[in-house]
Amino acid sequence: MLPELTDEQKMLREMIASFAKNEVAPLAYEIDREERFPEESFRRLAELQVLGITAPAEYGGAGAGYMEMCIVTEELAVHCGSTAATYADHADLCVDNIRRNGRPDQLSRYLPPLCGGNLIGGLAMTEPSAGSDVMSMRLRAEEKAGDYVLNGTKTFITNGPVGDVFIVYAKTAPEKKAHGVTAFIIEKDFPGFERGKKFEKMGWRGSPTGELVFQDCRVPAGNVLGEVNSGARVLMGGLNTERIVLGAMSLGLSRGAFEYALRYAKERVQFGKPIAAFQLIQAKLADMAMEIELSRLITYEGAYMADRGAHRDLNLLAAYAKLYTSEVAMRVTTEAVQILGGYGYMKEFPVERMMRDAKLQTIGGGTSEIQRLIIAREILK
Ligand SMILES: Cc1cc2nc3c(=O)[nH]c(=O)nc-3n(C[C@H](O)[C@H](O)[C@H](O)COP(=O)(O)OP(=O)(O)OC[C@H]3O[C@@H](n4cnc5c(N)ncnc54)[C@H](O)[C@@H]3O)c2cc1C
Repeated sequence: MLPELTDEQKMLREMIASFAKNEVAPLAYEIDREERFPEESFRRLAELQVLGITAPAEYGGAGAGYMEMCIVTEELAVHCGSTAATYADHADLCVDNIRRNGRPDQLSRYLPPLCGGNLIGGLAMTEPSAGSDVMSMRLRAEEKAGDYVLNGTKTFITNGPVGDVFIVYAKTAPEKKAHGVTAFIIEKDFPGFERGKKFEKMGWRGSPTGELVFQDCRVPAGNVLGEVNSGARVLMGGLNTERIVLGAMSLGLSRGAFEYALRYAKERVQFGKPIAAFQLIQAKLADMAMEIELSRLITYEGAYMADRGAHRDLNLLAAYAKLYTSEVAMRVTTEAVQILGGYGYMKEFPVERMMRDAKLQTIGGGTSEIQRLIIAREILK
């Protein structure tokens, strides 16, 4: 059953839905075309006090949970996948990670400016030769005179070209493999840190993606997040909630495309009738509506369980949510383009952008193949 929303959660949904419709949607085409970070929406999300949605109020956060994070992400994605990605990367991958794993001095140093939108956050685990097999990462962190010195490259990093603070995973004891990984909080001004190439992409074009390059980058030992050599625990601890939040993003993308196609089908007349009167179009709309409802159920079940700390049971649920909602988003957005016919293929209609944005959902945060492996592993236990 869909968890019933509290009055506060309903108000949050209304507030973000109205913001997204009135302020995010009008920029969606432009930021996609220009591949530009949605600076003005990011600032407004800070004013709406949702950038640190799970961070405690004493650090400038909203003290809420994953249900609320999913509500915000979903409503943004209805109108703009890139803005939803920008939000989720900052609020979940960076802020929530620091909240969960940070020491009090790290919370007070980083959370207030991140929650207030004065710093932009990101997270870097992927490397040119370490994607799905993330534990084969090569970025090396060596202890020298009390600091750590990092050398290597991270790639495909969301907010990489614009971020100020990144959670970065590196090998502190390569011989220990996954048990030799440590998480660090890296500031963009640390000596030896540079942004590498910015990628040109098919979708999520308003969410800049780039490389991070570390050349003898000196990081104070105080910036280790969690314990030395327990970065795998930090990383794995965040993956389930990331996948549930990505589920909310896929759900929003599906809703945006469906709602547009439904309106269009009622208005577009061919053979003397609105195309919605044709059963072949009705069948598409029926399948889209059904799969969106199921996406909603699995996403919010996951968020509800995550808020109750049922983290051990989350592996399966998070993989279901990520896999199912992303594949639905791809089907729904593709069918939306089909329902709009030639107009659906044109950039002046938003469904082609939604289809391009949806494709990333089956890749980022663990591909569909990896989600199927996780599900198989869990059910074969
Ligand atoms: C736009 C964008 C934003 C991103 N943002 C971030 C970010 O902010 N931070 C970050 O760290 N990363 C980020 N990523 C990286 C993303 O998480 C990886 O792209 C993803 O994990 C897949 O890794 P890969 O691209 O190296 O593909 P690979 O791992 O090389 O996979 C290639 C293909 O092989 C398949 N495959 C791999 N292993 C197996 C297996 N064992 N069995 C069956 N099939 C397999 C995959 O499913 C895929 O189809 C981003 C990526 C993109 C495109």
